[in-house]
Amino acid sequence: MAKWVYSFGNGKAEGKTEMRNLLGGKGANLAEMSNLGLPVPPGFTVTTEVCTHYYANKREYPAELRAQVAAALGQIEKITGRKFGDPAKPLLVSVRSGARASMPGMMDTVLNLGLNDRTVEGLAAESGDPRFAYDSYRRFIQMYGDVVLEVDHHHFEELLEQAKSDRGVSLDTDMTAEDWKALVAAYKAMVERQLGRPFPQDPQEQLWGAVGAVFASWMNQRAITYRRLHQIPEEWGTAVNVQAMVFGNMGPDCATGVAFTRDPSTGENEFYGEFLINAQGEDVVAGIRTPQQLTILGKDRQKSKLPSMEEAMPETFAQLCDIRVKLERHYRDIQDIEFTVEKGKLYMLQTRNGKRTAAAALRIAVELAEEGLIDRKTAVGRIDPASLDQLLHPTLDPKAAKSQLTRGLPASPGAASGIVTFSADEAETLAGEGKAVILVRVETSPEDIHGMHAARGILTTRGGMTSHAAVVARGMGRACVAGAGEIRVDYAARTMTVKGNVIKAGEAITIDGGTGDVFKGEVPTVQPELSGHFATIMAWADSFRRMKVRTNAETPLDARTARRFGAEGIGLCRTEHMFFDPSRITAVREMIVADDAAQRAKALAKIQPFQRDDFAELFRIMDGLPVTIRLLDPPLHEFLPHSDADFAELSKATGKSLDELKARAEKLTEMNPMLGHRGCRLAVTYPEIYQMQARAIFEACAIVGKETGRKVEPEIMIPLVAMKRELDLMRDHIAKVADEVRAATGAEISYMLGTMIELPRAALRAGEIAETAEFFSFGTNDLTQTTFGLSRDDSAAFLGAYEAQKVMTRDPFVSMDIDGVGELVAIGTSRGRATRKNLKVGICGEHGGDPASIHFCERTGLDYVSCSPYRVPIARLAAAQAAIQAEPAKAAAKPTAKPSTERHNRVLISAGRRAAGARVSAGRNFAAPTARPGKKKPAAKPVAKKAPVKKAAPKKIVKKAAPKKPAPKKKASVKKPAKKSKKR
Ligand code: ADP
Ligand code: MG
Ligand code: MG
Repeated sequence: MAKWVYSFGNGKAEGKTEMRNLLGGKGANLAEMSNLGLPVPPGFTVTTEVCTHYYANKREYPAELRAQVAAALGQIEKITGRKFGDPAKPLLVSVRSGARASMPGMMDTVLNLGLNDRTVEGLAAESGDPRFAYDSYRRFIQMYGDVVLEVDHHHFEELLEQAKSDRGVSLDTDMTAEDWKALVAAYKAMVERQLGRPFPQDPQEQLWGAVGAVFASWMNQRAITYRRLHQIPEEWGTAVNVQAMVFGNMGPDCATGVAFTRDPSTGENEFYGEFLINAQGEDVVAGIRTPQQLTILGKDRQKSKLPSMEEAMPETFAQLCDIRVKLERHYRDIQDIEFTVEKGKLYMLQTRNGKRTAAAALRIAVELAEEGLIDRKTAVGRIDPASLDQLLHPTLDPKAAKSQLTRGLPASPGAASGIVTFSADEAETLAGEGKAVILVRVETSPEDIHGMHAARGILTTRGGMTSHAAVVARGMGRACVAGAGEIRVDYAARTMTVKGNVIKAGEAITIDGGTGDVFKGEVPTVQPELSGHFATIMAWADSFRRMKVRTNAETPLDARTARRFGAEGIGLCRTEHMFFDPSRITAVREMIVADDAAQRAKALAKIQPFQRDDFAELFRIMDGLPVTIRLLDPPLHEFLPHSDADFAELSKATGKSLDELKARAEKLTEMNPMLGHRGCRLAVTYPEIYQMQARAIFEACAIVGKETGRKVEPEIMIPLVAMKRELDLMRDHIAKVADEVRAATGAEISYMLGTMIELPRAALRAGEIAETAEFFSFGTNDLTQTTFGLSRDDSAAFLGAYEAQKVMTRDPFVSMDIDGVGELVAIGTSRGRATRKNLKVGICGEHGGDPASIHFCERTGLDYVSCSPYRVPIARLAAAQAAIQAEPAKAAAKPTAKPSTERHNRVLISAGRRAAGARVSAGRNFAAPTARPGKKKPAAKPVAKKAPVKKAAPKKIVKKAAPKKPAPKKKASVKKPAKKSKKR
């Protein structure tokens, strides 16, 4: 018989951590904690397979499910000595969703299930505390009514506010048993009015209603959006956890709280958390009352006046500290835990690997390795390469004039400026228009995720460091200031007011998520100093990496930046950049409209000294590292004059009439320039262009060689080759120039000649092309266009529909299409190497900085990847992870003796110490980068990336942005107020 239900409790469990796919993250870890002997209220998990079955079978449960649930419920009853629905000693349960990956889009937890008009009386009598019993009942009706029965949330809110104002109290804790009892009656009447039927009194009906709601929530819009943003497959399904209730709301010796075993913002090895006395469930994160700090240290740091748990409940706190250590030792990672204290007894309700900032991730990984809990490979593997981008975020310029509005909590680091918006939808719209926005909310809820994603920064006026806004912002790498309580937000008037300053929607503010400061207007920022832990991880990564990492750079600034980030050469220098310079463009146009070779040579001679100096500067900066220079690639079309002023200037320079020039330009205009007169085709028709470039390169080699006394050996790369004969022609032109420069300068000139593989034919005929080419570089931007036969400029219009209808799951210009484009890369590599064993092979498209594509490159045996300067650290780390992942295959072939864990740990600890010493020197690579020209953060993607490689023609630039992901769909249903649903 299939097993659909797994029990836990009483120091044992049927499940364990490794069964996360079946039990969901929450269920698997509840089981694991039970097995570890931690105090976990007993319960059971309905598996994710039930969810899958449910959707595959017209929303029917498997036949055996009811019996299995009944049996598991019976076990809880046995352990607790209570009975579900029993008026004398009622068992109450929580019903909690839990997918494999933590998913804020899922159903909210329902607490206190099993209460009805009879059991509430039993609970009151048994506990001797009617206030507690009715507090629990009103919470249950509200949660169940909202989450399962879908009675709009504000109906409950209004009745609660009404009840409190009638009684003249402002805190929930000031309400009496009678008050709650009256509210329960009002709630029930309201629910009956809304639904036309009474609130369900039968605990079994309640239970199955809640279970059904969890499965239904798997397909709600919030969950769907979240899955899409995080690439979580629909097939995974969610589990349902049913667990005996414990009560943090039974009086002053009760509490509920959340904690991280280390500081999730900095990674510091300090226990960090918040709790509330006499509270239940999500009160802490919902920001209903200001939470108290767990530790004295935390209290001091937050300048909180409320007693910490360390002071208020020293014994329970000590117990929690033991559990903290136990959990970290066991999971070998920072844990994010939820707990409840009932009458002085501690219960664990959740643990999971904690979300952390990139800086914290680095520190934690390094320190866990130094503590001997993980090895260096694991440490390197723990860092999400894409998250490193967070560390490149700017911080506020300390010298800039600032006008501080207020200060909130430093919830997620980074500084961000932008215009204020109060709605998540508007944030998304404005970001889509390329505007930097700061999303300002009283609090955020899962419904705001798309807006938080689109915003540069998030500012909330309520909630603590573990509030929804704070947790989500840290996960997304957005700057966030939370709980800025001095700010009054008026959604209707679209204003925020603080100390007499009124800021309207559309006006700029700046937030500093590292300090919690909020400033008026835009404050200039500077690039950050990167921490020593970053350098340590990169040094460890480099020790595991096989592929080299180069950069795509043509300006001295980019080249220097890339070297600071550890680039090991230039993989792509796009020489056209040097043509578009305003001081040179007229000469380039003279060359295009020249009538004959002599005129062309004259025009090119004007450009040549500039090119030579550009190359010389790059050679100096790269100081002996390899430099691949690609000769001119873009279609002539892109150099054509546009404005009357352009034509007038060209007419003056060439002596040709305006009419003649215009006719000429018209003739040169191409319908499909991407497939037009470009790449080596330019030099097949006008060899002088490449000859000039080759001369510039060789002369630069001679100059820098003389300066440094070291030979400079460039790699000259010919673009858009489809046929071997094209490359042969180029080889001869270049060889001739090399001879001439040798003769003229007396310098020893040597170079490598290679080609970019960016046409399918070139990949297929790589065998013969490699007879001439000494290296290949896969130009996967063009190769993607030419393989799919689609143009990056025009595909934005339909790629959204392709994604929505699952024709394509990922943008092939961001992450390589491994199946198609990847197959061509693999074919090209193996055929090329069959001809020339030592053929150097790299990749230089945008994909060179994309971790998934980098893994493919490692598997395919490429020698290097090349990416934009700011992605170099990401590529170094991803390449290391790819090499580590490729290892088991090798290791299996060559088994080695494994050291005992103990010895292993000792070795690691001393290695860790050595590494700590090594940090200082490794850190040099990471001096603060200066400016970051042209770097704009695409709103819809979590990872900032440099604008796509483009053939920069003044007119085309605008259109050449990578295809934009479609905006997440708006929720169809009415927006709920943000107060509820604080999924953590
Ligand atoms: P989330 O996925 O949002 O973390 P949880 O299922 O963890 O939701 O539930 C939210 C909160 O509800 C928990 O942090 C805990 O405080 C409370 N809770 C859940 N189950 C129980 C229970 N059996 N007894 C007491 N409190 C519970
Ligand atoms: Mg190309
Ligand atoms: Mg939780």
